[in-house]
Amino acid sequence: MVLSLLKSMVTSSRSAATAEAEHTQKGQGAPRVFDFHGGIHPPEHKALSNRAPLVAAPLPREVVLPLSQHIGAPAQPLVEIGQRVKTGELIARAQGMISAPVHASITGVVTAIEPRQIPHVSGLEDLCIVIEREGEIDEWARLEAWRDWRQQEAQDLIQRLQDAGVVGQGGAGFPSAVKARVRERHAIDTLILNAAECEPYITADDLTMRTHPEALIEGLEILASLIGPECILIGIEDNKPEAVIALEQAIRARRADKRLPPLDSRLEVVVVPTKYPSGGEKQLIKLLTDREVPSRGLPADVGVVVHNPGTVRAVQRAVCFGEPMISRVVTLTGEALQHPHNVEARLGTSIADLLRLAAPAPTGIARLVMGGPMMGFTLESDALPIIKTTNCLLASSPESLPTPAVEQPCIRCGMCEQACPAELLPQQLYWFSKAREFDKAELYNLADCIECGACSYVCPSQIPLVQYYRFAKGEIRSAQHEARKSERARHRFEFKQARMAREEAEKEAKRQQRAQAAQKSAAARADASAVADTTSASAATATTTAAAAQPAPATDIKAFKTARAAANIALKKAEKALKAAQDGGESSESDIAKLEANVTAAKAKLASAESALKAASEASESAAPAAAGASTASTAAPAADLKALKTARAAANIAVKKAEKALKTAQDSGEGDIPALETSVAEAKARLAKAEGDLKAASEASESAAPAAASASATGAAAPAADLKALKTARAAANIAVKKAEKALKTAQDSGEGDISALETSVTEAKARLAKAEGDLKAATDAAGAAQGTDKGPVASAAAGSAQTTDTGAAGSSAGAAAPAAAAPSADIKALKTARAAANIAVKKAEKALARASESGEGDIEDLQTLLATAQENLRAAEVRLNSAQAGSTDATLAAKGAGELIPEAPKPAAGSVGRGSMASNVTLSQAEIEASRAENLAKRHKQVSIAVKAAEAAHRKAEAALSEADDENRQRLATKVDRTRRNLEHARESLAEVQALVDAQ
Ligand code: SF4
Ligand code: SF4
Repeated sequence: MVLSLLKSMVTSSRSAATAEAEHTQKGQGAPRVFDFHGGIHPPEHKALSNRAPLVAAPLPREVVLPLSQHIGAPAQPLVEIGQRVKTGELIARAQGMISAPVHASITGVVTAIEPRQIPHVSGLEDLCIVIEREGEIDEWARLEAWRDWRQQEAQDLIQRLQDAGVVGQGGAGFPSAVKARVRERHAIDTLILNAAECEPYITADDLTMRTHPEALIEGLEILASLIGPECILIGIEDNKPEAVIALEQAIRARRADKRLPPLDSRLEVVVVPTKYPSGGEKQLIKLLTDREVPSRGLPADVGVVVHNPGTVRAVQRAVCFGEPMISRVVTLTGEALQHPHNVEARLGTSIADLLRLAAPAPTGIARLVMGGPMMGFTLESDALPIIKTTNCLLASSPESLPTPAVEQPCIRCGMCEQACPAELLPQQLYWFSKAREFDKAELYNLADCIECGACSYVCPSQIPLVQYYRFAKGEIRSAQHEARKSERARHRFEFKQARMAREEAEKEAKRQQRAQAAQKSAAARADASAVADTTSASAATATTTAAAAQPAPATDIKAFKTARAAANIALKKAEKALKAAQDGGESSESDIAKLEANVTAAKAKLASAESALKAASEASESAAPAAAGASTASTAAPAADLKALKTARAAANIAVKKAEKALKTAQDSGEGDIPALETSVAEAKARLAKAEGDLKAASEASESAAPAAASASATGAAAPAADLKALKTARAAANIAVKKAEKALKTAQDSGEGDISALETSVTEAKARLAKAEGDLKAATDAAGAAQGTDKGPVASAAAGSAQTTDTGAAGSSAGAAAPAAAAPSADIKALKTARAAANIAVKKAEKALARASESGEGDIEDLQTLLATAQENLRAAEVRLNSAQAGSTDATLAAKGAGELIPEAPKPAAGSVGRGSMASNVTLSQAEIEASRAENLAKRHKQVSIAVKAAEAAHRKAEAALSEADDENRQRLATKVDRTRRNLEHARESLAEVQALVDAQ
């Protein structure tokens, strides 16, 4: 009776399936079933294993439990070798958001925690915990049952799933707890139990549904309470009539049970036609809801969550009984087994042990596959454990799964495209994968391939298409992994560069602080020793004289004040120690005498410090007028100072330009410390203003001191050659400027383009500057000649200049002070090195010209000899200046103080600005690298998106053409396809516009 009912049901379902894609079943009100593109009908071979009942496999002697039986991070072991564990005990905890714990599946002792080969397509090893069973006992860890789970909070239920290590049993092992939180991000209206089990040979879900239908209904209720769908649909192929009946009976019983609250959601069994791969997630959603999951999207994107029967049963066991996931149903099937059936086996059981339960044929197993013949993978060994995702062990004979035929060339028949349930272009994907054009394969939505094997199944050329797709996907994953790695490395590098620059800046700032502190303390020491002399009456006069020549600076006064404060504190301490000793009454007389002596000495030191401070203050005050006088006398700055001031001004000018450039770069890129850079610019401008002011003052003083210089010439002080050289350079520069201006004017006049009057003005101004430069040079030459008593020409002038520059004694105290003062700062040293190199080149040129003239007998030999002598003298002078600057640079500041602040202050960077400068330089370099990398990536992206647009356009055109020729039966499906290709095209065009905008902005 039951059998005839089943038969009639199967017949009815199958006829409905073949009659039309959209049909109704079992009368009015049954849900509609839709269709999906493609699909195939391979032989089912399910009868091999679905006739025997589901049985529990015997407890294994040993289990091998991999720590990564799920998608996500592997679990972390919590046990040690030798530790005894009970069944269901936690032995490895989940790590991270996407992960699942592992529990002991038998009672026994941990004998190893080591890498073992795992059942994976890669054939690689992974860390496993090995447990050896202890006797015959199966002692469970304490479990907490929740028969009243409806009273529990959703969060507690989800935590329960997480703690029990429940993962999806039908796919890649996605943690169910994470899936149960889907409502936090998506609105879900449909929960689907994927009971289609479409792959040939596999019957694990079928037997689970037939054996435990009530558990499945309760499991669905638990999941529905977490995600709140409007309806629960059980999608099942029409080749499982027993399961359909069992589920419907369980639903009826649930509805009739008045002790339980009524079901919140509509719960229905929907029988779908047998067609491979109707059990694909996207295909089943399409069948049951007519919704299409978008490319690279998730079922939740269309409001659907899908679970597998094995998973739902594990959910029910975890929530109702607190039972962790330690076993699963496995189909043992294939022509090489004499007793194929389904077993409930503990995880970690050896495949060899399980196969023995099904009695392998004496002829042996030709091929062992984990999973089905379409989507499974071949195992090289049976010495592997079953894991949470092992649904079937297919032991095939040579006849049932023969060795694949030799691959033939593609004949472009298009059968693969017809069969593809994902509506892809398998032959195109094949070409791209074979040619390693992975970017194009991605553009043709390789990621949407579910590796169902339908295309390979129909291919007349026997091309193992899925193998090509798996290879391409693996390569793409590796490339993406590498890209992520290099991106992380780049971030680390940039971070390190920035950190090093910051540390360097901090070090530089500290170095400067130390240098300033050292200068201060050296000055304080020098002043303190000078003041020590003032304790004698005779030294007082000398101090006054010294003070007149060199007034005590404010920093010295401060040092004296600090010394007095220190002496005061020392006195107070000594007095306190003495008082404590006297009050305590425990100290000996000699100790108290010592302390009294300390107090006396401290008082003397304080008195000395006070008198030193007083003397320094008085000396400073009395020296002020003298210093003013000295300053006046010394305002006739020597030419060497003028040059140094000019150099300082030029350096300050360059610093301003650099700071402005850095600021502009930062403003343009939007990166960098803009306020700090603005401050740098302001400081640099301030320094430039000061340098210009100093130069102006020195120039005026120099001009007013000209008569004095003339009179000084009588005593041998000649006009410095360095000035003459500078003036010659200025005249040459002015001459060039005139020529340039004249050329520009001529070009404009010839072409008739440009602002002629402005150019004429430029020429006039340039000529005026040239005339002034010539006048200055003439005056200086005359002055030098007058100083020497006779005009000795450029050679003599240069020699005189050199002599003056190097003279530190005979030229008098003023010149002597100026010489060390000319020991310019590092910026000047660089300039002096450049000058020496230029002078060297000039010497070489002159030597060459003289040699040529001597050989050829042409040219004015005498003039060239004079030129060479001048160049050599200039070189010597440049070397002397450089040596002097290098020798004196470290003492320059102190020497300047000694010289009455005559030395022009070098353009020092503000505190921290050196560091910032160096950081800016580093950042600029790194920034350049970043920009280059960005530009490269952008160009690549632009190319990819352009190809994507073209591909999308082609696909859309093709879809439109197909729609225009479609008959009524296919019109709706093709209209949907056109709609989808249009959306893809729009999306691709939007992406291209975005990338184009970025390119334009760049
Ligand atoms: S089915 Fe095979 S032969 Fe035909 S187009 Fe596809 S890959 Fe080529
Ligand atoms: S394996 Fe991929 S390309 Fe081939 S039919 Fe299945 S989904 Fe389509």
